[in-house]
Amino acid sequence: MEAEHLKFVIVGHVDHGKSTLIGRLLYDTDSLPEGKIEEIKKICEAAGQELEFAYVMDYLEEEREQNVTIDTTQTFFKTKKRRYVIIDAPGHREFLKNMITGASQAEAAILIIDAEEGVQEQTRRHAYILRMLGIDQVIVVINKMDLVSYKQEKFEEIKDEALKFLKNINITPSYIIPVSAKRGDNIVKGSENMPWYEELTVLSSLDTFKTKSDKSGSPLRMPVQDIYKINNKRIIVGRVEAGTIEEGKKVIFLPNNEKSVVTSVEEFLNESKKKAVFEESTGVTIKDKLFVDRGQVICGEDNLPFVTNKLKANLFWMGKEDFKKCERAIIKCGTQEMRCSLEKIEKKINSSTLEITGNDAESITNREVGEIILALDTKLVVDDFNQTPELGRFVLEKDNNIIAGGIINLKN
Ligand code: GDP
Repeated sequence: MEAEHLKFVIVGHVDHGKSTLIGRLLYDTDSLPEGKIEEIKKICEAAGQELEFAYVMDYLEEEREQNVTIDTTQTFFKTKKRRYVIIDAPGHREFLKNMITGASQAEAAILIIDAEEGVQEQTRRHAYILRMLGIDQVIVVINKMDLVSYKQEKFEEIKDEALKFLKNINITPSYIIPVSAKRGDNIVKGSENMPWYEELTVLSSLDTFKTKSDKSGSPLRMPVQDIYKINNKRIIVGRVEAGTIEEGKKVIFLPNNEKSVVTSVEEFLNESKKKAVFEESTGVTIKDKLFVDRGQVICGEDNLPFVTNKLKANLFWMGKEDFKKCERAIIKCGTQEMRCSLEKIEKKINSSTLEITGNDAESITNREVGEIILALDTKLVVDDFNQTPELGRFVLEKDNNIIAGGIINLKN
């Protein structure tokens, strides 16, 4: 197993300080290459500017462009406790889409708010998306405290505003911290400028968060990707999204509801492999000659997922054109793929203002979030997003473009 790491995302309105916070976190945890900050300092001095931490991000982006082996969306640093991965660098246009389509899965989030400007349009929209994704480890940082003379009253004022708005959408932040990303107050080190704040810094708050739990003990979910025929064997291939699959295990194939027993776990060049766990891609053979196809989900005998041809979900509309009631699209969930139509838009919400823009509406527009019901052409196997993310989210496609992302929340 890889060393423990926590993936988090930094969100907030443009210019509220996301890049600066990342630069500061990397600098204060000594995660930048030797001499780099001096170089940036020189550039700033030559331009008659103070040191600009946001440039660290520009530098990292340049490095990535030159070096294809560096992941384009992830940035790393370390504390004594563990590694951190900041996903989706700010400025990355695909940010919302990646979060919703699961290209990047955050376990925690920092919501950054400018102390002078307070809650703004993107603060609201991003917070709403955190809620949709069920991210419940959230730190709110009130940034640029240096610009309001580090005044406690100003912090309290913005804190009240933020808490009121977050309560409305059902987010309870774990911490609210007054910071200056630029000057380094309460990011990694405490702050002499704000003696009235005696609680944790951003970094020590992050250290208190839990990482994604190991799901190898959860009920088995293995979406079938493909079937290979090798040496007269029919090998069913897929990735274990939850639980464990092993020789002798009794399994059920959904949605067909057919039972069998695993006769072998097949791994290329590893004959002794007897089981595969959560997050492993593997192949298995089974005792019975069932009809198995891509899109089916292999489960254990208990705690079965939900099998349905009507799906209630939160839909985030990303397409340029409106999506009307009864219109058709392709739904993709795990390895499942089928046609569906929009049966009902129970409620729709403007994701910026959070205003409810319609009940039982006729269509949904770009950047709106809808609580919708989809009618599926055949049966779909789903789980709650928080239980098995891979089977709890989906995308809708039209003409090979992703037009919407959805989250399945069975508990609602
Ligand atoms: P982003 O768009 O959210 O990534 O914001 P940036 O990190 O690019 O910051 C926008 C501007 O705010 C830059 O000019 C930063 O130098 C400035 N800034 C960020 N954090 C602070 C801070 O704590 N104090 C002050 N005075 N300026 C800041």
